[in-house]
Amino acid sequence: MYTTFSVETGVSIPSITYTCKRHVTGVMVQAMPAQERFAPDAPFRFVGGDPSLDFVNTADWTRRGLESDRFTSYDRLIEWARGAGLVRQSHVRRLRRAAARHPRQAAAALAAARDVRDVLMAVFAAAVARRHSALALDRLNTLFTDAAAHMRVVRDPRGGLQRGWAGLGDAPESILWPVVARAVDLLASPDARKLRMCAGRDCGWLYVDRSRNRLRRWCDMSVCGTAEKNRRRVRR
Ligand SMILES: [Zn+2]
Repeated sequence: MYTTFSVETGVSIPSITYTCKRHVTGVMVQAMPAQERFAPDAPFRFVGGDPSLDFVNTADWTRRGLESDRFTSYDRLIEWARGAGLVRQSHVRRLRRAAARHPRQAAAALAAARDVRDVLMAVFAAAVARRHSALALDRLNTLFTDAAAHMRVVRDPRGGLQRGWAGLGDAPESILWPVVARAVDLLASPDARKLRMCAGRDCGWLYVDRSRNRLRRWCDMSVCGTAEKNRRRVRR
């Protein structure tokens, strides 16, 4: 899927680099080893400005493929969803119980999460490039149809109404419904025109550029922006 999205959309993925993004600490970036495929202990970062973007940003998108994938277990997926504010603590408890009761379903949900991440990257990368991909949209629509079947309008605590979910937390894969719904919300919103991909090497993270002058270049200035500055310093 990774190859598909880059070929299909023509989006230029940050070029191959010799640096280790999470461990760039100084000017000796060229001596750093390549990143690992999985990063079970790496913290989740919520810098994209939307949970669906932060979901894609749970791995680094390099030309070598995905690296530093933080989705290393179903429990990590729950941890991410809680951190992103997509599920409440009561859902977390139910999801953990469901995963313990149905370990194979939990493993399948983790695999599905990686597939959803691929699809979302394909659609978002196409949106960044303003070249929508029919194949990626078809796949997103399939996911959205499944998620929307569980969508409900429910009362909120302030006496109004809000979107809710029937059965969120009952089955391990239900954790993906709000992710897909938020992605569709974002793509159909004015913020879709502000979607950007980080200019940092070996990154590929996505964000909504809500800066006043629309000149944000990095997923996070303290990570990719600093790495780029260090790289320039090395070249001088
Ligand atoms: Zn970045």
